[in-house]
Amino acid sequence: MTQIVTRIAPSPTGQMHIGTVRTALFNYIFAKQHGGTYFVRIEDTDKERSRAEWIDAIWKDFEWCGLTPDARYIQSEHAERHRELLAALVAEGKAYVSKEPSRDDPSRQVEVVRLKNPGTRITFTDLIRGDVSFDTAELGDFVIARAIDDPLYHFAVVVDDKDAGVTHIIRAEEHLSNTPRQILIQEALGFSRPQYAHIPLILAPDRTKLSKRKHAASLEHYRDEGYLPEAIINYLALLGWNPGTDEEHFSLSELVERFSLDRVQKSGAIFDETKLKSVNQHWMRKLSIDDFITRGALEANDSNTLRLAVPLLKERARTFGEARELLSGELSCLFTQPSLDKSQLLAKEPKDRPGIAATALKSLSEAVRELPAEISADGVKEALMPLADAEEARGKGGRGAVLWPLRYALSGQERSPDPFTLISILGPVEAASRVEKAVAILG
Ligand code: GLU
Repeated sequence: MTQIVTRIAPSPTGQMHIGTVRTALFNYIFAKQHGGTYFVRIEDTDKERSRAEWIDAIWKDFEWCGLTPDARYIQSEHAERHRELLAALVAEGKAYVSKEPSRDDPSRQVEVVRLKNPGTRITFTDLIRGDVSFDTAELGDFVIARAIDDPLYHFAVVVDDKDAGVTHIIRAEEHLSNTPRQILIQEALGFSRPQYAHIPLILAPDRTKLSKRKHAASLEHYRDEGYLPEAIINYLALLGWNPGTDEEHFSLSELVERFSLDRVQKSGAIFDETKLKSVNQHWMRKLSIDDFITRGALEANDSNTLRLAVPLLKERARTFGEARELLSGELSCLFTQPSLDKSQLLAKEPKDRPGIAATALKSLSEAVRELPAEISADGVKEALMPLADAEEARGKGGRGAVLWPLRYALSGQERSPDPFTLISILGPVEAASRVEKAVAILG
């Protein structure tokens, strides 16, 4: 049996498109599930646009996603081989050097290499799209190199795939129309034909192609926003593939078990950021408290309180970006003493019951002080709720008249978690002292 070999062939011309990660993922999975190899080849034939820093970024990006390649190549390192085979094609009369005006500057003559195109109909079986047929006559004798030592992408890709033993070319649908040219080059070189699988485009919600220029489409963007690689991988697998059940969460190794090219759709797949967020939240929630803090690069002035806040963050944040926003916004009261405004403390005091906020806060501060050092939000609620209920029994609105100033005294914010949760995280000593401060303000 032939060894399965797949590859991803990104160009080092900018930040990595999320679609490149998906293509890499499908190649990775396909190779792993067949005991084969998967490699990365940097396609740097476009010398003007390729940059060394983008090459480094590509290696790092794939490592970060867990799509570590079995081998790494750089296309320009094969320049000698490309030149040799181009020269051989010319020598055999299958290609020829054509002296013609330069495209960029028609006053200048250049020597490009053109393939002698037999103009046959090319049919290949795409593993996703079935039989695909192209009439190649209209391509004419197309250019395969700008000069004998400067091959175009079509030529370089065919030679490099052959030399690396690539058996399956799994790539984006936009390359479908490149395939007949590449097959013609393979045939001229006497190479066997690999299998092709063209995966559907990723579309923005407006059904246009997801592009880095118009949309948030780079891996870097999602990494900076605090998405986990597990979630990106999981979500990207579902962009174009489905397991045939309503399961939604798959780790990379589960995908290797479950994925199949047969279940990849032909039509474009719409990128749904809300869905990505919910998948991300699933993977964030699976992290231990320590991992959650480290992987989210979360920081606060009190590491113990930060640990206690993690369950709240797991409940509310769908990305680590959102978690960081919560820590500096709604949850900042856990880390800094609030500054209180008297009118806010009294905001919910019924007009006909003046003084109730002050009295309630006083008895609450005493009750809070009595609480054990470690107590759950439910435990706090059980201890304090009877006080609020008693006020309600004395008159409608009594409960709010107690709980609102309590929550505000603890947080100094209009929006915050409920007072029981705040007390369980702050601890009774800190919480009681905050409530006492409020009593003093009202005093
Ligand atoms: N270098 C091409 C690209 O970045 C990939 C070509 C291929 O997969 O054959 O889209």
